[in-house]
Amino acid sequence: MEAVLRVMFLGTASACPTVSRNVSGLAVSRKGRHFLFDCGEGTQRQMMKYGVGFSAGDILITHLHADHYLGIPGLLRTLTLQGRQQPITLWGPPGSSSVLRDARDLGGDRLSFDVPVRELGPGDAIEGDGFRIEAFETDHGKVSVGFALVEEDRSGRFNVELARELGVPEGPLFARLHSGEDVVLDDGRKIESAELVGPRRPGRRVVYTGDTAPCDRVAEVAVGADLLIHEATFGSSDRRRARETRHSTGAQAARLAVRAGVKDLVLTHISARQRGARDLLAEARAVFPRARLARDGLEIQVGLDDEENRTTDAHARDRATAGGGAGASAVQEAGDQADVRTRQRPGLLGRLGGRLGAGH
Ligand SMILES: [Zn+2]
Ligand SMILES: [Zn+2]
Repeated sequence: MEAVLRVMFLGTASACPTVSRNVSGLAVSRKGRHFLFDCGEGTQRQMMKYGVGFSAGDILITHLHADHYLGIPGLLRTLTLQGRQQPITLWGPPGSSSVLRDARDLGGDRLSFDVPVRELGPGDAIEGDGFRIEAFETDHGKVSVGFALVEEDRSGRFNVELARELGVPEGPLFARLHSGEDVVLDDGRKIESAELVGPRRPGRRVVYTGDTAPCDRVAEVAVGADLLIHEATFGSSDRRRARETRHSTGAQAARLAVRAGVKDLVLTHISARQRGARDLLAEARAVFPRARLARDGLEIQVGLDDEENRTTDAHARDRATAGGGAGASAVQEAGDQADVRTRQRPGLLGRLGGRLGAGH
């Protein structure tokens, strides 16, 4: 069975939270392994609200601006109150470990579990089963990295019809041929794997920039990505401010998405000004029509091969089920998302959270 790969936006505001957006936090889940990319203040409550659960074993911080890591002390204290035993590794960019150790140790009592602190510089990676998370350099005026979840290539498609025509009996021989092994049938005929298996297929690639000005390195890492999550703090009218603070505009993020040939672009780290958000989305779509604005509670399941990425919008669903005017505005807001398909069921992260989050 193919591994499910999902991301859930826990916080999508820049700098400080608003009524509808928390500061940065992104839950990433692949086949039972859970990661948190950035952990702004209040992230633990967003995890509860959107049913992510507390099963993340790694928290990766892009840079040491407060809106990206102040959620760590509270989250670790809550997990201690719950009696957690499994370790959580805190990862930050080069030079971040003393600050992250302070964040870990803040709050007095001993934690009930180990929290090793590690640095993850450009070119470093966390290895997983069939994938890795690579750190890459970004341009934010201080030491900063982004993260790319990169899956290994998968084996090519197995031509079942041809295998049957050739008289290969279904069962273990199919698996051996699919894995690249040539086999000899009972009647002495040799069947070559290459005859039945197509070219290897690229694994999926999800790229999260954290805070950055438009950056060549991002364009390189994002080539062919299934999902690029790019910061877009400002609209074009604030271009100068974006340049001074080493942030991006929606249009800049979109141009980068076109250059890298990504399948899907989601803009996050959105300025508190509502009009700014509308403008930057319109500007981005003029360049990359599939661009979308992130919102808290947005969950994306990344598709395989030519499959579309599927989206669930917990926020719109909550508003719609509240009824009345709220419902109407939810529909309108959902319309902001180009191809949202709202499903009336909790996402995988939610289901895993319910199962794994409490009492483990
Ligand atoms: Zn930020
Ligand atoms: Zn920043």
